[in-house]
Amino acid sequence: MNSLSRRRFIHLLGAAGSVTALGTMGLTLGGCSGGKPGAGPRVVVVGGGFGGATCAKYLRRFNPSIQVTLVERDARFVTCPFSNAVLGGLQDMNSIQHTYDALRTQHGVNVLQDEVTAIDPAGNRVSLQNGGELEYDRLVVSPGVDLRWNDVEGLDETTSDIIPHAWKAGPQTITLRSQLEAMADGGVVVIAPPDNPFRCPPGPYERASLIANYLKTHKPRSKLLILDAKDKFSKQGLFMQAWEQLYPDMIEWVKGSDGGRIDRVDAATRTLYPEIGDPVTADVINFIPPQKAGAIVHAADLVNNDGWCPVDQRSFASTLQSNIHVIGDAAIAGKMPKSGFAANSQAKVCAAAIVSELGGTTMPDPSYVNTCYSLIAPDYGISVAAVYRLQDGKIVKVEGSGGVSPMDVPDEYRKNEARYARGWYQSITQDTFG
Ligand SMILES: Cc1cc2nc3c(=O)[nH]c(=O)nc-3n(C[C@H](O)[C@H](O)[C@H](O)COP(=O)(O)OP(=O)(O)OC[C@H]3O[C@@H](n4cnc5c(N)ncnc54)[C@H](O)[C@@H]3O)c2cc1C
Repeated sequence: MNSLSRRRFIHLLGAAGSVTALGTMGLTLGGCSGGKPGAGPRVVVVGGGFGGATCAKYLRRFNPSIQVTLVERDARFVTCPFSNAVLGGLQDMNSIQHTYDALRTQHGVNVLQDEVTAIDPAGNRVSLQNGGELEYDRLVVSPGVDLRWNDVEGLDETTSDIIPHAWKAGPQTITLRSQLEAMADGGVVVIAPPDNPFRCPPGPYERASLIANYLKTHKPRSKLLILDAKDKFSKQGLFMQAWEQLYPDMIEWVKGSDGGRIDRVDAATRTLYPEIGDPVTADVINFIPPQKAGAIVHAADLVNNDGWCPVDQRSFASTLQSNIHVIGDAAIAGKMPKSGFAANSQAKVCAAAIVSELGGTTMPDPSYVNTCYSLIAPDYGISVAAVYRLQDGKIVKVEGSGGVSPMDVPDEYRKNEARYARGWYQSITQDTFG
């Protein structure tokens, strides 16, 4: 794709959110939203993040007779997208929080603030933390990720107050931001990203960039070291070119096979022990542990040996249990990355599949979409985008769709991509929670 058509493509994606999947399925979007919860089939959705909230909303839009109950443990959702901007001091926490008010009042979703503690696939019901059970005709699970604490010696949930992961936005974001603010000029920050697969492949490198932007302005003698479990990472050429240009001598990236991979952590002394080479002590450590599907799916036997949920990639129906669909980060979705945009796109396909199935009709072949923007500085954005389709039951990229931002372009181009990134955030959060 040449640069002009690519620019136009990502601009359209940024502006329009994720309508591609629906457009190609020919479903009617207008006019059927809102209204009172119906008296038709019951769908319970677990998790009110990008996947779950979108699915609940679009189930009601596609068929208002469906009774949709969304169970979410928190009253408000804090987005990981743009949480790196909070860490870099560019925005505050309020700017990345969303309520479920519109789902309740405009879309007729019954939103319960509660936690699903067990799924009974044989009995078609879920148990709730606050007591009681919900029966379903179909269950959609979008619990996001959990952290694999046991994979790294010395690290567990209790050490995350000293060594925050900040890979679920909320209190952890505030902890890491406070540590950065408290650090003296001349301090050392370490970010330790995990091996694949994990939530938001470019996320750690966007984080490094925006923290470096903060340090450059407020603590210019400081250093940022990335000790990576991997030997390469998403949009690497673009990130490294930008780091050289914007943060020369501030960011150092160490690849896994050169001593980036960490075996052991001593939280008390903030020391990391790499597989190869000397221990590293830092003033602030952001260790991002390896990940697996959110806890609730493990007890219900919805996961494979790697800790992720196998699904029919056309409908997101679990291949392990009947009447249950899994979407978002927890699902194995072919070539799609674990991103909020991907979860939103999958949620619409899943909603359409459920509506078709319950209505006894056949859903046309879906398409799916994703763009991941990354900010490297307030006026410097890059992106990777793709449209996906089904091939032999697997989600694959459509040849020639999207691609990554070009190297060596004028500042104006990067500035525009930063603008599209903010536009994308407005549009995806409106599409999910609005
Ligand atoms: C730093 C960072 C930056 C990112 N930036 C981007 C970006 O720019 N663009 C992008 O597209 N993606 C981005 N992502 C990725 C994105 O946040 C995730 O891919 C997305 O949130 C996945 O959606 P989900 O529905 O699977 O899970 P989530 O959005 O995490 O939602 C899961 C929800 O389920 C709830 N839940 C879990 N278990 C239960 C239970 N048993 N009962 C009740 N509720 C439960 C949780 O409270 C949570 O609200 C970023 C991630 C990080 C960490």
